[in-house]
Amino acid sequence: MNKKGKLFVISGPSGVGKGTLVTEILKRNQNIKLSVSVTTRFPRPGEKDGVNYHFLTKEKFQSLIDNNELIEWAQFADNYYGTYEKVVNEVLEQGYDLIVEIEVQGALQIKSKRPDAVLIFILPPSIEELKDRLERRRTETAEVIAKRLAIVDSEYAKKDRFNYQLINDRLDASIEELENIINKERFINA
Ligand code: ADP
Ligand code: 5GP
Repeated sequence: MNKKGKLFVISGPSGVGKGTLVTEILKRNQNIKLSVSVTTRFPRPGEKDGVNYHFLTKEKFQSLIDNNELIEWAQFADNYYGTYEKVVNEVLEQGYDLIVEIEVQGALQIKSKRPDAVLIFILPPSIEELKDRLERRRTETAEVIAKRLAIVDSEYAKKDRFNYQLINDRLDASIEELENIINKERFINA
Protein backbone atom coordinates (compact mmCIF):
# COMPACT_ATOMS: atom_id res chain seq x y z
CA MET A 1 0.00 0.00 0.00
CA ASN A 2 1.18 3.50 -0.85
CA LYS A 3 2.23 5.55 2.20
CA LYS A 4 0.84 9.07 2.22
CA GLY A 5 3.22 12.00 1.94
CA LYS A 6 3.83 14.66 4.57
CA LEU A 7 2.79 18.29 4.26
CA PHE A 8 5.40 20.95 5.08
CA VAL A 9 4.38 24.60 5.39
CA ILE A 10 7.25 27.08 5.02
CA SER A 11 6.27 30.55 6.19
CA GLY A 12 7.63 33.81 7.57
CA PRO A 13 7.98 37.45 6.50
CA SER A 14 8.44 38.49 2.89
CA GLY A 15 12.12 38.64 1.95
CA VAL A 16 13.31 36.30 4.72
CA GLY A 17 14.52 33.72 2.19
CA LYS A 18 11.66 31.21 1.98
CA GLY A 19 11.83 30.86 -1.79
CA THR A 20 15.62 30.56 -1.76
CA LEU A 21 15.56 27.81 0.88
CA VAL A 22 12.73 25.91 -0.79
CA THR A 23 14.50 25.96 -4.18
CA GLU A 24 17.58 24.40 -2.58
CA ILE A 25 15.54 21.73 -0.76
CA LEU A 26 13.75 20.76 -3.99
CA LYS A 27 17.05 20.46 -5.87
CA ARG A 28 18.32 18.00 -3.30
CA ASN A 29 15.13 15.94 -2.78
CA GLN A 30 13.34 14.37 -5.75
CA ASN A 31 10.54 13.01 -3.55
CA ILE A 32 9.41 16.44 -2.41
CA LYS A 33 7.03 18.46 -4.58
CA LEU A 34 6.10 22.14 -4.43
CA SER A 35 2.53 23.46 -4.58
CA VAL A 36 2.13 26.22 -7.19
CA SER A 37 -0.10 28.87 -5.60
CA VAL A 38 -2.73 31.06 -7.21
CA THR A 39 -2.39 34.82 -6.95
CA THR A 40 -3.93 38.05 -8.18
CA ARG A 41 -0.60 39.90 -8.19
CA PHE A 42 1.10 40.76 -11.48
CA PRO A 43 3.99 38.53 -12.59
CA ARG A 44 7.49 39.87 -11.94
CA PRO A 45 9.87 39.94 -14.90
CA GLY A 46 10.88 36.35 -15.63
CA GLU A 47 8.02 34.75 -13.68
CA LYS A 48 6.02 32.18 -15.63
CA ASP A 49 2.33 31.37 -15.33
CA GLY A 50 1.89 27.84 -14.01
CA VAL A 51 5.51 27.68 -12.81
CA ASN A 52 5.97 30.43 -10.20
CA TYR A 53 2.25 30.99 -9.68
CA HIS A 54 -1.05 30.59 -11.46
CA PHE A 55 -1.73 34.28 -12.15
CA LEU A 56 -5.48 34.99 -11.96
CA THR A 57 -7.93 37.87 -12.06
CA LYS A 58 -9.71 38.86 -8.83
CA GLU A 59 -12.96 37.47 -10.29
CA LYS A 60 -11.44 34.06 -11.00
CA PHE A 61 -9.81 34.01 -7.54
CA GLN A 62 -13.19 34.80 -5.96
CA SER A 63 -14.79 31.92 -7.85
CA LEU A 64 -12.17 29.53 -6.42
CA ILE A 65 -13.08 30.75 -2.91
CA ASP A 66 -16.82 30.41 -3.62
CA ASN A 67 -16.35 26.87 -4.94
CA ASN A 68 -14.25 25.82 -1.92
CA GLU A 69 -11.30 24.96 -4.14
CA LEU A 70 -8.69 26.53 -1.87
CA ILE A 71 -7.40 24.82 1.29
CA GLU A 72 -6.27 28.28 2.44
CA TRP A 73 -6.15 31.79 1.10
CA ALA A 74 -5.18 35.23 2.35
CA GLN A 75 -4.94 38.85 1.38
CA PHE A 76 -1.34 40.01 1.64
CA ALA A 77 -0.23 43.57 0.85
CA ASP A 78 -3.10 44.32 -1.59
CA ASN A 79 -3.06 40.96 -3.38
CA TYR A 80 -4.70 37.59 -2.85
CA TYR A 81 -2.84 34.30 -2.61
CA GLY A 82 -4.16 30.75 -2.21
CA THR A 83 -3.44 27.02 -2.41
CA TYR A 84 -5.48 24.46 -4.40
CA GLU A 85 -6.85 21.81 -2.04
CA LYS A 86 -7.10 19.21 -4.83
CA VAL A 87 -3.40 19.50 -5.64
CA VAL A 88 -2.45 19.08 -1.98
CA ASN A 89 -4.62 15.96 -1.67
CA GLU A 90 -3.42 14.40 -4.92
CA VAL A 91 0.29 14.87 -4.27
CA LEU A 92 0.06 13.50 -0.72
CA GLU A 93 -2.06 10.53 -1.90
CA GLN A 94 0.64 9.72 -4.48
CA GLY A 95 3.05 9.36 -1.56
CA TYR A 96 5.11 12.48 -2.25
CA ASP A 97 5.91 15.00 0.46
CA LEU A 98 4.66 18.47 -0.40
CA ILE A 99 5.96 21.93 0.45
CA VAL A 100 3.65 24.94 0.45
CA GLU A 101 5.50 28.23 0.73
CA ILE A 102 2.97 30.73 2.02
CA GLU A 103 2.43 33.69 4.34
CA VAL A 104 1.48 33.36 8.01
CA GLN A 105 -2.35 33.64 7.97
CA GLY A 106 -2.58 30.88 5.37
CA ALA A 107 -0.11 28.71 7.26
CA LEU A 108 -2.35 28.80 10.35
CA GLN A 109 -5.44 27.96 8.27
CA ILE A 110 -3.64 24.83 7.08
CA LYS A 111 -2.69 23.96 10.68
CA SER A 112 -6.34 24.05 11.75
CA LYS A 113 -7.47 21.92 8.77
CA ARG A 114 -4.50 19.51 8.78
CA PRO A 115 -3.09 19.21 12.31
CA ASP A 116 -0.49 16.74 11.02
CA ALA A 117 1.09 19.40 8.75
CA VAL A 118 4.56 20.52 9.83
CA LEU A 119 4.76 24.32 10.11
CA ILE A 120 8.16 26.00 9.89
CA PHE A 121 8.53 29.74 10.55
CA ILE A 122 11.61 31.33 8.96
CA LEU A 123 13.07 34.36 10.77
CA PRO A 124 15.70 36.85 9.59
CA PRO A 125 18.77 37.52 11.78
CA SER A 126 17.41 41.08 12.26
CA ILE A 127 14.78 43.44 10.88
CA GLU A 128 17.56 45.52 9.28
CA GLU A 129 18.79 42.47 7.39
CA LEU A 130 15.20 41.65 6.32
CA LYS A 131 14.84 45.17 4.92
CA ASP A 132 18.22 44.87 3.14
CA ARG A 133 17.21 41.54 1.59
CA LEU A 134 13.94 42.99 0.27
CA GLU A 135 15.83 45.96 -1.16
CA ARG A 136 18.62 43.81 -2.64
CA ARG A 137 16.05 41.56 -4.32
CA ARG A 138 14.89 44.56 -6.38
CA THR A 139 11.48 43.09 -7.16
CA GLU A 140 9.27 45.54 -5.26
CA THR A 141 8.93 49.31 -5.10
CA ALA A 142 9.82 51.15 -1.88
CA GLU A 143 6.08 51.52 -1.22
CA VAL A 144 5.42 47.78 -1.50
CA ILE A 145 8.49 46.98 0.63
CA ALA A 146 7.19 49.34 3.32
CA LYS A 147 3.80 47.58 3.29
CA ARG A 148 5.46 44.19 3.66
CA LEU A 149 7.67 45.40 6.54
CA ALA A 150 4.72 47.05 8.31
CA ILE A 151 3.11 43.65 9.02
CA VAL A 152 6.21 41.84 10.29
CA ASP A 153 5.32 42.45 13.96
CA SER A 154 1.89 40.89 13.52
CA GLU A 155 3.52 37.95 11.72
CA TYR A 156 6.07 37.47 14.53
CA ALA A 157 3.21 37.47 17.05
CA LYS A 158 2.04 34.14 15.56
CA LYS A 159 5.39 32.39 15.33
CA ASP A 160 4.92 30.33 18.53
CA ARG A 161 2.04 28.47 16.87
CA PHE A 162 4.51 26.92 14.43
CA ASN A 163 6.20 23.56 15.01
CA TYR A 164 9.66 24.93 14.23
CA GLN A 165 11.38 28.31 14.02
CA LEU A 166 14.53 28.68 11.94
CA ILE A 167 16.72 31.79 11.72
CA ASN A 168 17.94 32.16 8.13
CA ASP A 169 21.34 33.73 8.79
CA ARG A 170 24.06 31.89 6.84
CA LEU A 171 22.32 30.32 3.87
CA ASP A 172 24.19 27.00 3.73
CA ALA A 173 23.65 26.39 7.46
CA SER A 174 19.94 27.21 7.08
CA ILE A 175 19.52 24.81 4.16
CA GLU A 176 21.10 22.06 6.25
CA GLU A 177 18.92 22.87 9.26
CA LEU A 178 15.75 22.87 7.16
CA GLU A 179 16.73 19.61 5.50
CA ASN A 180 17.35 18.05 8.92
CA ILE A 181 13.89 19.09 10.13
CA ILE A 182 12.27 17.68 6.99
CA ASN A 183 14.17 14.39 7.17
CA LYS A 184 13.35 13.97 10.86
CA GLU A 185 9.64 14.59 10.26
CA ARG A 186 9.52 12.34 7.19
CA PHE A 187 10.66 9.38 9.25
CA ILE A 188 8.31 9.98 12.15
CA ASN A 189 5.49 7.41 11.75
CA ALA A 190 7.30 6.00 8.70
P1 ADP B 1 11.03 35.20 0.36
O1 ADP B 1 10.72 34.05 -0.58
O2 ADP B 1 10.93 34.82 1.80
O3 ADP B 1 10.27 36.44 0.04
P2 ADP B 1 13.60 35.23 -1.05
O4 ADP B 1 13.96 33.78 -1.08
O5 ADP B 1 13.12 35.84 -2.33
O6 ADP B 1 12.58 35.56 0.15
O7 ADP B 1 14.91 36.01 -0.53
C1 ADP B 1 14.94 37.42 -0.48
C2 ADP B 1 16.35 37.89 -0.87
O8 ADP B 1 17.27 37.52 0.16
C3 ADP B 1 16.84 37.27 -2.17
O9 ADP B 1 17.55 38.25 -2.89
C4 ADP B 1 17.77 36.14 -1.69
O10 ADP B 1 18.80 35.90 -2.62
C5 ADP B 1 18.33 36.71 -0.39
N1 ADP B 1 18.65 35.70 0.64
C6 ADP B 1 17.95 34.59 0.95
N2 ADP B 1 18.55 33.93 1.98
C7 ADP B 1 19.64 34.65 2.33
C8 ADP B 1 20.67 34.49 3.32
N3 ADP B 1 20.69 33.45 4.17
N4 ADP B 1 21.63 35.42 3.39
C9 ADP B 1 21.62 36.49 2.55
N5 ADP B 1 20.69 36.70 1.58
C10 ADP B 1 19.71 35.79 1.49
P1 5GP C 1 5.25 37.31 -3.33
O1 5GP C 1 4.34 38.38 -3.83
O2 5GP C 1 6.54 37.87 -2.75
O3 5GP C 1 5.48 36.21 -4.32
O4 5GP C 1 4.50 36.61 -2.09
C1 5GP C 1 4.04 37.38 -1.01
C2 5GP C 1 3.74 36.46 0.15
O5 5GP C 1 2.66 35.60 -0.19
C3 5GP C 1 4.92 35.56 0.51
O6 5GP C 1 5.05 35.54 1.93
C4 5GP C 1 4.49 34.21 -0.01
O7 5GP C 1 5.03 33.14 0.75
C5 5GP C 1 3.00 34.29 0.18
N1 5GP C 1 2.26 33.30 -0.60
C6 5GP C 1 2.60 32.73 -1.78
N2 5GP C 1 1.68 31.84 -2.15
C7 5GP C 1 0.73 31.81 -1.18
C8 5GP C 1 -0.45 31.07 -0.98
O8 5GP C 1 -0.86 30.21 -1.75
N3 5GP C 1 -1.15 31.34 0.15
C9 5GP C 1 -0.78 32.26 1.06
N4 5GP C 1 -1.53 32.42 2.15
N5 5GP C 1 0.36 32.97 0.91
C10 5GP C 1 1.10 32.75 -0.19
